[in-house]
Amino acid sequence: MTQQFEGKVALVTGGASGIGAAFARTVVRDGGRIAIADLNEDMGRALVAELGTDKASFTRTDVSQQDDVIAFVDGAAAHFGRIDILFNNAGIGGMGTTLDLDAAAFRRVIEVDLFSVFYGCKAALPHMLRNGSGAIVNNASIAGMLGDFGMTAYNTAKGGVVNYTRALAMDMAKSGIRVNAVCPGCVDTPLFAGLKAAESVFDNFIRAVPMARIGQAEEIAEVVAFLASDKASYMTGTVIPVDGGITATSGFPD
Ligand code: NAD
Repeated sequence: MTQQFEGKVALVTGGASGIGAAFARTVVRDGGRIAIADLNEDMGRALVAELGTDKASFTRTDVSQQDDVIAFVDGAAAHFGRIDILFNNAGIGGMGTTLDLDAAAFRRVIEVDLFSVFYGCKAALPHMLRNGSGAIVNNASIAGMLGDFGMTAYNTAKGGVVNYTRALAMDMAKSGIRVNAVCPGCVDTPLFAGLKAAESVFDNFIRAVPMARIGQAEEIAEVVAFLASDKASYMTGTVIPVDGGITATSGFPD
């Protein structure tokens, strides 16, 4: 039986950890090859060793730097010979309201979480246009669909990722390149653990999830893999919550 990513080359940013690493494992499991970009060199290289150097590569990349992203994307295309899939996943959290955030802190989150997505797409599109096909998935967040308390920069950046996805999907609609976004809720990764260090805060978050549990990185990666695969051939510009039901509730307690 042909595996869904047989012959395909996928790129993932922030692929050394969490959701990005789960996606990298899914691509290789399903027959594809994966180029991983991340700031964390030790974890990135360890993942390549796990997946096999014939199936995976790693490039140390700061996604907030356009030159780094161009080098990663063009290097991956040269190494593997083509680019079929781009998962723009790297991101950071960031707490603070308009009253207590300074402009530099606000700008940093926008650069890492939003400009990085623009840089990734801009670098990958020429390769995909040459093939006449491609699938881009952007990792937004339910924080890009709704407001949170004290997450101003993150809400703003992820809201930008959501509507950037729709805008690029329109511009590419006739090109054979599909562009979609996932919006995870609370997922068990170092990023979430860092944001919700205090146990009481963590419990409050879980109480807000109708399914009453945190999600696993693999549960997001499977949806990303679907959007990146030919099974989603008639889907572009969609924004899919993967959140245990959070965005489906009125907010009233049960
Ligand atoms: P994670 O911390 O496990 O992984 C993020 C990865 O991005 C790390 O390996 C980190 O080194 C890398 N990274 C950070 N800044 C970078 C930079 N400037 N350049 C290159 N790499 C960089 O966290 P995760 O939860 O897997 O996060 C992945 C994505 O999922 C993020 O965009 C995040 O906003 C989004 N998300 C996560 C959750 C959640 O609850 N975990 C919810 C919604 C959305």
